[in-house]
Amino acid sequence: MHWITKHNLHYLQFSSLAALPGLWHGIFPRFAGNGNGGWIPFNLGLNCGDDDLKVWANRRTMIAAAGGGLPVFARQVHGAAIGIWDPADVPVSDHVYLDGDALITAAPDVALVIQSADCQSVLLVDPVERVVANVHSGWRGSLQNVVGRTVQAMVARFGVRPERLICAIGPSLGPCCAELIHYRQEVPAHYWGYRREGDLFDFWRLSIDQLTAEGVAPGHISASGICTRCNPHVFFTYRGEGPRTGRFASLIQLKKDPHGN
Ligand SMILES: [Zn+2]
Repeated sequence: MHWITKHNLHYLQFSSLAALPGLWHGIFPRFAGNGNGGWIPFNLGLNCGDDDLKVWANRRTMIAAAGGGLPVFARQVHGAAIGIWDPADVPVSDHVYLDGDALITAAPDVALVIQSADCQSVLLVDPVERVVANVHSGWRGSLQNVVGRTVQAMVARFGVRPERLICAIGPSLGPCCAELIHYRQEVPAHYWGYRREGDLFDFWRLSIDQLTAEGVAPGHISASGICTRCNPHVFFTYRGEGPRTGRFASLIQLKKDPHGN
């Protein structure tokens, strides 16, 4: 994983995904450059205390960095529903909201955006079939296996082969900070094997296991290993800052030219 700085924007890229032609992806932190060597806040979430116009300006800046595709957002509810943007669909606006916590498309120039403040965003791509997905998986989504269900939907709808999928798990609560003090009530017992010391859970490991259970090759999965709560100066963190914190975002987009870099 490495930082890219371009046009006053900073974003993270996974080496495994950056190596694929015809694909753009990035994870945008809570700050951007101000053009004079300093930083300005870069909140991408509505209803977090920032003016909507400012959030949309930030979103447009993010979309432009990705190449200016149609932005597709998810109406995230910590569930396991999946929104599919069909290549034949015609947008009625300059952006799209789909119901679900996972987004899938095989259409190029469509930017799948997941917003987070501690939850995982999990990026998936089948570079042969050219299908991408972006999944919002917090602890509630993890317990509903939204990641595994997304792989199943990619297979059913687009004929994706799981063993070809390249996957990446973004910055999110690590096993150092994913504390569930009421886990005996909130977490089914068959997940208790992911409990580490105290009431801490390793949801990164759970996502990896959910992917491999669907047939993804272990060597095709990258995890950032970056805990949001341990890095509050870089990422918004709900656990660290409460409900009024902002949202950072991850984005994945197929390019029109499958060989383009
Ligand atoms: Zn941590």
